[in-house]
Amino acid sequence: ERKQCMSTGPPPACYGGRHTVTLIPGDGIGPELMLHLREVFRHAHVPVDFEEHSLCGETNKDSEEVEGAIMAVKRNGVALKGNIHTDLENLKHVAAKSMNVQLRVGLDVFANVIRCKSIPGVKTRHEDIDIAIIRENTEGEYSSLEHENVDGVVESLKIITEKRSMRIAEYAFNYAIKHGRKKVTAIHKANIMKLGDGLFLNSCRAVAARYPEIEFNDLIVDNCCMQLVSKPQQFDVMVMPNLYGNIIGNIGCGLVGGPGIVPGQNVGEDYAIFETATRNTGKTIAGRNLANPTATLLAGALLLDHLGLDSYAKAIRRATIRTLTEERIHTPDLGGQASTSDVVQHVISLVDKTQLTSQ
Ligand code: ATP
Repeated sequence: ERKQCMSTGPPPACYGGRHTVTLIPGDGIGPELMLHLREVFRHAHVPVDFEEHSLCGETNKDSEEVEGAIMAVKRNGVALKGNIHTDLENLKHVAAKSMNVQLRVGLDVFANVIRCKSIPGVKTRHEDIDIAIIRENTEGEYSSLEHENVDGVVESLKIITEKRSMRIAEYAFNYAIKHGRKKVTAIHKANIMKLGDGLFLNSCRAVAARYPEIEFNDLIVDNCCMQLVSKPQQFDVMVMPNLYGNIIGNIGCGLVGGPGIVPGQNVGEDYAIFETATRNTGKTIAGRNLANPTATLLAGALLLDHLGLDSYAKAIRRATIRTLTEERIHTPDLGGQASTSDVVQHVISLVDKTQLTSQ
């Protein structure tokens, strides 16, 4: 029997046709990119109001602040988020978990989905890539269970459960069906972590048996990395535990143009969080009008898809992609000279044009 574990429809916070979305700007380039996104939404007359919760990795050490943000997402059902800086020093106190992880685990947004697709006009080593990377988002190596019982000996626990492995595998196959994909590849290291990754792999196999129309194969993570950088077109949908997802996701984004291009979504049964795929803070380029706003604007379009605001999503997505492909307004990460605001102004002018012609 197949389980439906896709995120349920639009969230509850919709009054008088307007949606309320929790906005967590994050650190680094997050706040400036969110301002740009809001400007684009305003021009497109998107019926969304934001409830802002600023969480700053350097100053907010208080778990109440994170709880407040979690409550806000529970109320609104949906969030748009920049990445929150994780202070390495502070993490020496093992209890201090990354706020990003606290949000994901607290809201049980168990599936991280990023689609790495080649964009014509963005010069990369490989062409015709279209990979959906589905990552388990709540356990594995991100369980924050580490201890040093004896000086100089650290145990860092990786938790793999059958329930969550089955759940993410089910999500991946459902995704493949829903999006007309043909193949799902499970990524693992079951030759070394025989029990943990073995359980993950066996769960994927059990789910695959219920979806005979979708081809299934598996690949060891090291070989997968090599295959990705040499022949990425062979991949369709990929499913994997948490840490491999982090690494493979970054390779996928690098293949199609880098951290400024690809949006990401984290979905669970009840809530969804939209952010950039590589979850960068971009601290070194913050406040310099240099960041590529594409990934953030496309994350906004995914959010609008989720809310069922299809025509707004389409207008913003088309304008953003056209700015890259036809107009070739490129920021320095893509080898161009345009600023963040140049790109955003161009997107706005295209959105305005679309709306004029559709009236
Ligand atoms: P941190 O010190 O927090 O790691 P950083 O800026 O040094 O910040 P990352 O946030 O990990 O590094 O980002 C990795 C690289 O990707 C950096 O060179 C950063 O400038 C670049 N980058 C990240 N996001 C964008 C973006 N939206 N546009 C352009 N470049 C980006």
